[in-house]
Amino acid sequence: MEQPRLDWARDWLNKNSHTLYYGGEWRKPEGSTPFTSINPATGAKLWEFPESNAKDVERAAAAAKSAFHSAAWRDLSRAERATRVKRIGAVIREHAAELATLESLDNGKTYAESFVDDLPESADVFDYYAGWVDKFYGETCPVERGFLNYTVKEPIGVCGLIVPWNFPLLLACWKIAPALAMGNTVVVKPAPFTSLTLVRLAELIHERQILPPGVFNLVLGGGEAGQALSQSPLVDKISFTGSTATGGHIVQSAGKSNLKALTLELGGKAPVLCFADLKNPDAVIQRIFQATFSHKAEKCTEPARILIEESIYDKFAHALVEKAEKFRCGDPFAESTQQGAQCQKDHFDKILNYIRIGKDEGAKLLCGGERDSSPSAQNGLFIRPTIFGNVKQSMRIAREEIFGPVLCLQKFKTEDEAVQIANDTIYGLAAGAYTADNSRTHRLATRLEAGMVFLNHYGCYHFASPFGGIKQSGWGKEMAVHSLDGYTKTKSVWIRYEP
Ligand code: NAD
Repeated sequence: MEQPRLDWARDWLNKNSHTLYYGGEWRKPEGSTPFTSINPATGAKLWEFPESNAKDVERAAAAAKSAFHSAAWRDLSRAERATRVKRIGAVIREHAAELATLESLDNGKTYAESFVDDLPESADVFDYYAGWVDKFYGETCPVERGFLNYTVKEPIGVCGLIVPWNFPLLLACWKIAPALAMGNTVVVKPAPFTSLTLVRLAELIHERQILPPGVFNLVLGGGEAGQALSQSPLVDKISFTGSTATGGHIVQSAGKSNLKALTLELGGKAPVLCFADLKNPDAVIQRIFQATFSHKAEKCTEPARILIEESIYDKFAHALVEKAEKFRCGDPFAESTQQGAQCQKDHFDKILNYIRIGKDEGAKLLCGGERDSSPSAQNGLFIRPTIFGNVKQSMRIAREEIFGPVLCLQKFKTEDEAVQIANDTIYGLAAGAYTADNSRTHRLATRLEAGMVFLNHYGCYHFASPFGGIKQSGWGKEMAVHSLDGYTKTKSVWIRYEP
């Protein structure tokens, strides 16, 4: 792992005046509402920027539209387009230590998580989708004799890409790479708490002249900028990752403007079922713990409810608590740190409030339950890994997304009961189960209501496998060929052999 680049980051932050990028140039925003970004691990101010207002967003969308209609991007040869897409990945790889440093300063996750988990995938996704530029085929359709009917995959147009603060660069790259590979132009809007890596990426794309002007555009800001993008008639598609509530607002905005296409990756409350017959319980407990508390449990697919068969419940609970009590919170740049700071103050308060709710509801607090007061964590937004036992599915902590280091343990007696509890949620992003019974494994694959089901290994991800939820966890998929459906429109062409 390369060393963090803290001195470089300090200098860059002192000098940086880049906050709005469109049409191939850095612009002075008309919006003047300041947003102060805080380092969540120290409470220190990182930087302040003016949020883009609706007019700024509209200008960025207009630049993207004009670039889409020009020949500069759409009409590049496929080989050249693929090369440009790959170059973005290469530049991310080259600047991985810088970008990982900015990500950890802004988001509070450990530097190791940024550098080892987020950065390689942010780069590699460009290689993956560059490979698809000349492989996403249309079809010849078996219609009646005398006619030829075929389909063509065409870019949609201007794609507004709105991302949250938990994996700021990575989740943006999951969208930018397939959108550009299919010939679209993009306007990216990160969450205001975590804009730094995308500002730096825009600088690198600009300095290296990787893309023609207007193909990649960046606006900064919160709800106002996001809403302006979703309402803009110039935007043809929104790909959004964030909460279910905001997803609902975007559906309304799209409906009120131009019925733009939508991909929505929303909230989750993943259950993991642990049956008494599971093999190697220690490894399962380690995996569940890691899957839950890495990235300070600000992950949409994290296990939030562990459903444990009654006979192994005490052993499981005890082992999870033992691990949680040893977990070290603190400076994201210290090698000994295992859990960084929660990303922002409102969210930190929301998590602590859920812990209060859990106690009031009568769940049994097994460990954690408070902010971390150790010397290395005192000034930041650190919460001790928290585990509640004897949680009932009727409790709010079992039903609502907390999105922080709070794990609910629930008991079950039978498979039917476990499945009923697991599916009793508005969410359907991910679910998992551990059992040595092969027939049960296959049964659970069909019975669990989730877009991603992890059996005997929780949390598997690969570019070749679709990522996304069902129920109120989302519409559409990211990753794999499935993502490309969201960044293309299918045209059906009919030709009669004899006119
Ligand atoms: P959020 O919905 O508050 O914000 C997400 C983004 O939407 C931000 O960029 C925000 O500025 C913008 N936004 C806010 N109001 C808007 C509006 N009215 N119109 C358009 N954009 C608007 O979510 P968050 O708190 O940043 O992120 C946490 C949520 O994201 C959790 O619910 C988590 O489960 C979800 N998430 C889902 C996935 C997934 O793949 N399913 C991945 C990561 C996070």
